[in-house]
Amino acid sequence: MTRVQTRVYVIASGTRIREVARKAPDSPFGQLDALIGTSGVRVLPAKSLITPPELNVPRGEFGDRLAEVLSRHVEVSDVDDETTFYASFVAAIRSARTSLWLWTPWVARRVRMILPELRAAVDRGVRVTVFVRDPSDQLQKKPANLSLVEDLRAVVHTVVPMHVMHQKIVVVDERTVMLGSLNALSQSWTREVMVTMRGACFARKILTHEHAEIFARPPKCPRCGQDDIEIRRGAKENWYWRCYNTRCPTGGGNKAWKKDIDLWRRPGSA
Ligand SMILES: [Zn+2]
Repeated sequence: MTRVQTRVYVIASGTRIREVARKAPDSPFGQLDALIGTSGVRVLPAKSLITPPELNVPRGEFGDRLAEVLSRHVEVSDVDDETTFYASFVAAIRSARTSLWLWTPWVARRVRMILPELRAAVDRGVRVTVFVRDPSDQLQKKPANLSLVEDLRAVVHTVVPMHVMHQKIVVVDERTVMLGSLNALSQSWTREVMVTMRGACFARKILTHEHAEIFARPPKCPRCGQDDIEIRRGAKENWYWRCYNTRCPTGGGNKAWKKDIDLWRRPGSA
């Protein structure tokens, strides 16, 4: 504290500071309590910093600056290439307690090695969501790969196809992010890099950026009643749901059933 130049941040329980200050006014908490309420000391409720960013709760200029400072707390914990990634990836899956999000364009033979890990995570109560390329993709539509996607669907909660998807992201427990060039469920021989970063604010920022919660809830096609819904992006950067069921009465192609995705709808609301 003696080296502080311009500003110091204290994260603490206000109730606890007052309790200690009452009993020991000369203690550091006592000194701190005496400062609260004077000019130059600002108090920000912790709940305004842990509110999901998409709610846009006003925090004021000071609050926004503090949130910015905290959000920069990202620890780069690993940098992997294709030879070391799977040990880190399996460890990350095994560490998951609540949620696992994967953006992995292709699903190929590699998935067989990962499926038992995903099954164990689901059995522990981890919600697993996977975004993959839709079956119009040349590689993904090979019968062997389509059947591997079915194996994946049988294990995890949600698989959502996205047209020309190319992101490669893993997010564990809204806290750990693995981001880079490697397709986690199809990698076979190419050179890759994946960076593992820890930081809850950053992880939530990535999930918000990818519209994770909204994109994980595709509707049923109202024309054929099936679940064969993919995500596409239009020329105006609008995202939309599209039915790709080949037996849909619309006839598919340009006439396929489509619906713009409302990005402002709160997930879970009607
Ligand atoms: Zn349909």
